[in-house]
Amino acid sequence: MKMMTAHKKEKKKETKSSKRASLIVRWVSVVSLTIAVSFILFSVIIYSTVSQQALSQQEASSNRVIVTLDRQLSPIPDELQIANVIPALSPSTRRVLNGGPSIKSEDDANTAFSDDLISSISNPDISVAVYNRHNEVVFSNGKLTPKFKRFSGERKMQKVMTPTGAQLFIYSRLVSRKTNRTTGYIVVQNAMTSYNHLMHNLLRWMIGISLVAILLFTLIAYIIVRDVVNPIKEISKVARQVNDDPNSTARIKELHRNDELEELATSFNKMLDRMQSYIDQQKQFVSDVSHELRTPVAVIEGHLNMLERWGKDDPEILDESINASVQEADRMKHLIQEMLDLTRAEQIDVLYPNKVTNVTALLRRVTSDMAMVHPDFNIQLEIDDLPEDTEIQIYQGHLEQILVILIDNGIKYSTDQKQINVSAGVTQDDVHIIVQDFGEGISEQDQKKIFNRFYRVDKARTREKGGNGLGLAIAQKLVTSYHGEISVDSVLGQGSQFKISFPVLSPDKAKKLKEIEAEKYKNDVPDGILKP
Ligand code: ADP
Repeated sequence: MKMMTAHKKEKKKETKSSKRASLIVRWVSVVSLTIAVSFILFSVIIYSTVSQQALSQQEASSNRVIVTLDRQLSPIPDELQIANVIPALSPSTRRVLNGGPSIKSEDDANTAFSDDLISSISNPDISVAVYNRHNEVVFSNGKLTPKFKRFSGERKMQKVMTPTGAQLFIYSRLVSRKTNRTTGYIVVQNAMTSYNHLMHNLLRWMIGISLVAILLFTLIAYIIVRDVVNPIKEISKVARQVNDDPNSTARIKELHRNDELEELATSFNKMLDRMQSYIDQQKQFVSDVSHELRTPVAVIEGHLNMLERWGKDDPEILDESINASVQEADRMKHLIQEMLDLTRAEQIDVLYPNKVTNVTALLRRVTSDMAMVHPDFNIQLEIDDLPEDTEIQIYQGHLEQILVILIDNGIKYSTDQKQINVSAGVTQDDVHIIVQDFGEGISEQDQKKIFNRFYRVDKARTREKGGNGLGLAIAQKLVTSYHGEISVDSVLGQGSQFKISFPVLSPDKAKKLKEIEAEKYKNDVPDGILKP
């Protein structure tokens, strides 16, 4: 039943993720819609502006006809009739009306008027009709006779849509100048061919340009969005793979785009590498720890068994077993402490980011402390090349711990010559410290492995000396965590030189770090990791 619901949930998730996969479609449609709406709005504005402008030109030319006719016919006092309308119009007009050319006659008093009228009504788009009060046509310019429609007021203008395009009708009342009475009506019909042509072309261009623009922008949007979404898809694919199998080595391929996404991919890969290394370390750690703890536990167990069987009553065995067990327990305590140190050394960048330590002072203190603990050893300090105020970016407890590990090893693995030299110097880029001993030395093969956890050149002998094979691993982890380096130079049978170096810290940066630390110190006091 549970399996079923889990399966259903999984299915639900799948369908959800396939629905989510439409990010490209969503983005592209939003972009296309925005562009389409903008273009439509823009087109409507342009279309109506041009239409208004062109229409007012058409109105003006139609009005001119009305005004001219009105001027010629308003002197007629009575009812309009063909007999009084035609003579009122000029001979030229008559000629034009009859299909002849217009002739400018110097003798004709109406020349100015008539030419005006002729030029207006010779426009092939304009049809004119004059009606009398009984709705009878008394004049028409011979093309088609525009029909009369009752209207109120002096003038009425009407734009009518016909299958061939928009047409403009103007109806105007004729009033006699003399009697002030309505004598008839003028009707002008304007077919507006140029207007219709212009608007038709404009519409066609606008639709064409809009379609091309929408298609083009959609394509561009698609390319851009796909370019962004594909790496995101890749990142999410890798995340899913790693989520399904934490040991997966899947990583995001190089994106070669030099932008935020590449940065994200690189950080993501780094994060996965780090996570992987934590997992590996943890695994290794658990296996190492269980392996290392097995021996002391077995030793204590062996002694306890022995005591149980026959040692209780034998004070010699009792004494020996208790001593051996205490020794093993002590070793175990030491081992656990070292393991904790190693684990903590991995979090330095989080816990101790701004610590600064004076190298000379610390070297003096550590060497004199060690000399006190090991009076049989000659521990020399040579720091003539190191300026007194040399500082490096490290928590002093950690530098102390590293030095103790190295000096301790020099002492542990010494032979006849009980001498340890500690020297330090500074170059342009780094501050280095060298711990030299004249003991048993390390073969070239072993030099490569001594920094590994739990590695001991001679397991049995090292155990005798109380070593767990963790000292150098801790030292290396600490040094590299502070962006330093550790190396060994050794000749078997002659001795070893361990060199640690850290980047030089400029006085300015040191000051800044101290300020940050002083600010932080007000609130919390960090605990150091010191080798016991
Ligand atoms: P341990 O706690 O066992 O000394 P380390 O990690 O410090 O562990 O050292 C690892 C191994 O490297 C040691 O077991 C020892 O064999 C070898 N080693 C370290 N330092 C020296 C040294 N100064 N001279 C010779 N061998 C050394």
